[in-house]
Amino acid sequence: MKTDELKTIGILGGMSSAATGEYYNLINQKVKDLKGGHNIAEMLICSVNFANIEKYVRTSNWDEAAEYLVNKAKRLENAGAICLFLGTNTMHKVRKQIKEAVSIPFIDIFETVSKEIKSHGKTRIGMLGTYPVMNDQFYVNAYKEFGIELISPNETEKKEVDRIIFDELTHHKFIQSSKEYYIKVINNLSNKGAEGIILGCTEIKMLVSQEDVKGITLYDTTDLHCELAAKICTGEIILD
Ligand code: GLU
Repeated sequence: MKTDELKTIGILGGMSSAATGEYYNLINQKVKDLKGGHNIAEMLICSVNFANIEKYVRTSNWDEAAEYLVNKAKRLENAGAICLFLGTNTMHKVRKQIKEAVSIPFIDIFETVSKEIKSHGKTRIGMLGTYPVMNDQFYVNAYKEFGIELISPNETEKKEVDRIIFDELTHHKFIQSSKEYYIKVINNLSNKGAEGIILGCTEIKMLVSQEDVKGITLYDTTDLHCELAAKICTGEIILD
């Protein structure tokens, strides 16, 4: 029998456990779709304590966030991961520190999502995510580098979208009224001129999906990131 070893990808997860479970299942499903049979991914997951992440976000303590995540990223590298996926949009705020600390490729969520948006010829996109994602400039600037202009919800909407993430989605709670609220915000963004919507938080796909929203394309960061992970794992995409 010939052993079929795949490339071992590294996932920095726990942000939250709901999102990491989704990454695990989606990557395995996509590897199975690509290779068939009982093939699933070879991956290392370093899952962090989300209580720390929540505190860093609430207090804007990005230096400590970077230190905590750099340490975990190095563990994945030392354990043999060939590349690194950070399974959260918000913590991409400290991606530069992580990239500098490891020598394996860091698979930037912005680059992954931008490529997909550009392939559809779109440049004005609405976004949903945590408060820092929607409010700080790092997210807007990251997409600007790829020629994409982001439109954010209004202040009241930002606060409620953020509340739903931290009070519900990251606790694995998916509530109908919250789903309806997200759909309303998506429609408002569309009315402001958005040509598509980035689901810029890795748990949102469990609340809202493309079937719930007519006439506007959703760009789900989790799905696009996992698609790339599966292709790297199976060798369909070779990293430099
Ligand atoms: N998973 C979320 C994201 O994609 C939020 C949790 C976090 O703060 O990392 O941003």
